[in-house]
Amino acid sequence: MDGVAETARSSYNTAVRAKMGFGRKFTSGIVPPSEKREPTWWFAFQGNKLLVHQGSPSVTIPCLVDFAELGVMALSRHYLGLLDQTPCYAVELAEGTPPPAGMSFEGLRQVFGRLDEDLFWVATRAVQIVDWGRTHLFCGQCGTPLRTKTTERAKECPICGQLHFPRLAPAIIVLVERGRELLLARSRHFLPGMYSVLAGFVEPGESLEEAVVREVNHS
Ligand SMILES: [Zn+2]
Repeated sequence: MDGVAETARSSYNTAVRAKMGFGRKFTSGIVPPSEKREPTWWFAFQGNKLLVHQGSPSVTIPCLVDFAELGVMALSRHYLGLLDQTPCYAVELAEGTPPPAGMSFEGLRQVFGRLDEDLFWVATRAVQIVDWGRTHLFCGQCGTPLRTKTTERAKECPICGQLHFPRLAPAIIVLVERGRELLLARSRHFLPGMYSVLAGFVEPGESLEEAVVREVNHS
């Protein structure tokens, strides 16, 4: 068990170092390069599953000038920015689209530690942008189809002007210790015998500390 925990800790530390800037640098961007001439990282999702080249144990993602080279039709694409100097795009694929030969769709948890850490962290952005694009098609205020803004990561209603940004949902996760005891909880949908540390979403106007207190009191 200690070996498993150590492996997980080591892989997590490596990922955090990459995210903190020890790896390649990711620069978020809205305006894509004017010409498609260089190899580009394509983070293509079907639902929340990433299209990867199969490998054992490691996997990678397509790095092509044009996503069309894969012969898979994209429902939408969103420019994400540059990983060092390489452009990155998030792509939405239709449900039921079969993966090209030698490729598969995998959840991000399944590729953690198997996909290059820098790419993994960009993938965590990409999946959220694709989800936002898919779930924010119409204005929540007046129902008009939204337009994607070209100057910031937002969608705008052409009728009422309402802006819609990618959704952020702050959450807390906390391990409460007393000596050698840990406070764990279980949810009704957990498998038998499964317990978890306490976690939950922060409510509007609540501080992170208040959210921790509320979750502990609920447990
Ligand atoms: Zn509107």
